[in-house]
Amino acid sequence: MKLRWWRQELLLKHTFTIARSSVATKQTILVELEHDGIVGVGEAIPSNYYGQTVESAEAALDGMVGLLGDDPFRIEAILARCLERFDDQRAAVSAVDGALHDWVGKRLNVPVWRLFGLDPDGAPVSSFTIGIDALDVIESKTADAAEYPILKVKVGTDRDEEILSAVRRVAPDKRIRVDANCGWTAETAPERIRRLSEYQLEFVEQPIPPGDNIAMRSVRQEAGVPLVADESSVRPCDVVPLGGCVDGINIKLCKCGGIREALRMIHLARGCGLKVMLGCMIESSVGIAQAAHLAPLVDWIDLDGHLLIRNDPFEGIGGAGGRLTLTERAGLGVARRNR
Ligand code: MG
Repeated sequence: MKLRWWRQELLLKHTFTIARSSVATKQTILVELEHDGIVGVGEAIPSNYYGQTVESAEAALDGMVGLLGDDPFRIEAILARCLERFDDQRAAVSAVDGALHDWVGKRLNVPVWRLFGLDPDGAPVSSFTIGIDALDVIESKTADAAEYPILKVKVGTDRDEEILSAVRRVAPDKRIRVDANCGWTAETAPERIRRLSEYQLEFVEQPIPPGDNIAMRSVRQEAGVPLVADESSVRPCDVVPLGGCVDGINIKLCKCGGIREALRMIHLARGCGLKVMLGCMIESSVGIAQAAHLAPLVDWIDLDGHLLIRNDPFEGIGGAGGRLTLTERAGLGVARRNR
């Protein structure tokens, strides 16, 4: 198997701000895995927050070349070797995992969702994210998002009520979720959430920093609004301890290491009575497609990263109105966009 990759600079339509950071561009790595005349694609989305940089992801990809072997169907064994060596570089492992699944799907001429026995009609509609911004910009972003029935609003600031009020002025009846990205503390979160509750929230994502599931449970009890863990729910070993502390978990492939590790997390979550969301970072249609093929297995999806950029190098996964298109195209179903 041959593995090659290149850096891709993704340009955002709007500077994207969350509680802890702000970005106008995002560097990801697109990966091609070639074997027997077939090319599978995948994407690594390194996240500084999880100790990953473009450089560390490239070094991990370089190290994984010698771990691939000569049979792309042996995905489990290949990924076990990669995770053993590069446990802290799961964004890079996810790119290889995605490329392997794309390759196998193309070889068998079936889409990845079919490999897992799924029904594409069972995929939920994706939310569309409204980043932190000036209130007039939040209003215009909300108006621009008219086609999306579900909004995920970034909070975790000292003006969260104004933000929600601005969104509700433009979108009085939409389903709204909020994501604090660890922006509150265990002491302040219950009161903050109670005050935001008047804006009819479906759930609150990651109100406080990770590392204290018992505090998360207390916030949930005091606030009386469903909670979803994101930064607290990184990889399979994080799932069981969250049982009884939150209502659901947000799985991202770049955190956990790809489709196979995401599947483990989904099954663990179900065993603990947790709901499941599939989320994303700022990424191209390749990374979104890797997650989208598991969408029929989960309750909520937040797969809009490719809709927030203006130079997506790939296409094929749709997303208009929050509806991703899982077609009969083989593999991940994405192709290079004609320039
Ligand atoms: Mg989140």
